[in-house]
Amino acid sequence: MKDCIFCKIMKAEIPAKKIYEDDVVIAILDINPVVEGHVLIIPKEHFDNFYSIPDSILLHVYDVARKLSKEIVSKLNKTGITLQINQGYTLVNHFHMHLLPDYETPKLEKTVDEIYEILK
Ligand SMILES: [Zn+2]
Repeated sequence: MKDCIFCKIMKAEIPAKKIYEDDVVIAILDINPVVEGHVLIIPKEHFDNFYSIPDSILLHVYDVARKLSKEIVSKLNKTGITLQINQGYTLVNHFHMHLLPDYETPKLEKTVDEIYEILK
């Protein structure tokens, strides 16, 4: 898609630190990491978001996430990893998954009971 930064990375019009590639996805280091080892898994084909990505490609993203998670945690000597998909407030409207080693959960403002009252 025109003017999509991730599509430009796929076409090598913008450089990226690629750590993995297959026929369907690439994985790159996030240019503005939240934590050390912040990786993005990005389908080569442009899908606007989590709602529009086909199941088969989403499943492949998860397969790659599992493989890379093990490597990242091991090689960077981390304890664990968080998989994150942002929907609706992401900076780039080309589906991608974040891998966040030893990601610290933000402080909570509402209790579980308060959230339950809102969501039940
Ligand atoms: Zn794109």
